Amino acid sequence: MELNDFIRQMPKAEIHVHMEGSIRPETLLKLARKNNVELPSDTVEGLRRWYTFTDFDHFISIYIKISECIQTPDDIELIAREFLEGQAAQNIRYSEVTYTAHTHYEQKGIPFDEQLAALNRARAWGEQTLGVRMNTIIDISRHVDTEVGLITAKWAVEGMGQGVVALGLGGPEVNNPPERFGGAFQFAADAGLPGVPHAGETEGPASIWGSLRALKAVRIGHGVRCLEDSALVDELRERQVPLEVCPTSNVCLKVFPDFASHPLPRLLDEGLYVTLNSDDPPLFNTTLTNEYLQAAAAFGFDEETLRMLVLNAVRAALLPAEEKQAMLQVYETEFEQLGKS
Ligand SMILES: [Zn+2]
Repeated sequence: MELNDFIRQMPKAEIHVHMEGSIRPETLLKLARKNNVELPSDTVEGLRRWYTFTDFDHFISIYIKISECIQTPDDIELIAREFLEGQAAQNIRYSEVTYTAHTHYEQKGIPFDEQLAALNRARAWGEQTLGVRMNTIIDISRHVDTEVGLITAKWAVEGMGQGVVALGLGGPEVNNPPERFGGAFQFAADAGLPGVPHAGETEGPASIWGSLRALKAVRIGHGVRCLEDSALVDELRERQVPLEVCPTSNVCLKVFPDFASHPLPRLLDEGLYVTLNSDDPPLFNTTLTNEYLQAAAAFGFDEETLRMLVLNAVRAALLPAEEKQAMLQVYETEFEQLGKS
């Protein structure tokens, strides 16, 4: 089997992808029209041009505009269903999707329980109709006040047992160190809810250290800039903290100049725990399948390396041990069969 066919067919799992950042351009235009939100363009090509980011702040302003196009729980259910259809089409059987609930509360006043119920209607539909599973990470956008962070942590804890598996931290990393949200993450940890903050993307090692120490992060979103600090690399290697690496996102947001210069191979050479993810796929004109195709082409990864990256994502999933073991077995069997065909 050709390597590209192997990549398309292999079972996948994704642990770093944003719901609002996964809206199809066509759907965004439809929602904007329905909800009278003015976008800079009314064509898919125009949106693609709009998605040419100058820097992280520009990206955030676009993200807020996209969130405005979502006005009702039905809109949330629609984007979540379409997200799951997109995952199913790529054979992504399991996703942990980040969702920024407070933005929708702040912009439109949609109560958290109504937002979660909408996500969970889509989640149940996806499982029954498409055979794919999803859990949710409720994240704090780190520019907010610490009290808003605590409200978000309380919502996330309320959602435990209803698909919420972690508290996240996203948004502009520069000038918003993780320590600001130590209280929110402590509240979650006390309730048994793990923390999975973004760190080491647009900020350096201090942000990752802060996430490990002040937020007790069990995984790091991105984490690619750990390579600037050898003591941090040692720490991440020893503890095998999973890094949620998203190469195309890093290129689009100018963390690295191009895919070929991305340090993904170096992270692996350092013995770090690496997973591959798409982050906000239509905003970066990518998909998870595309990330694997590009990585294989740029870095010469073979079937064995690709398999390891997929299984790393499954092992890093925030699922009960027995469920994870069962999932791993299914994936391993399928990889074995794929390897023979
Ligand atoms: Zn992200």
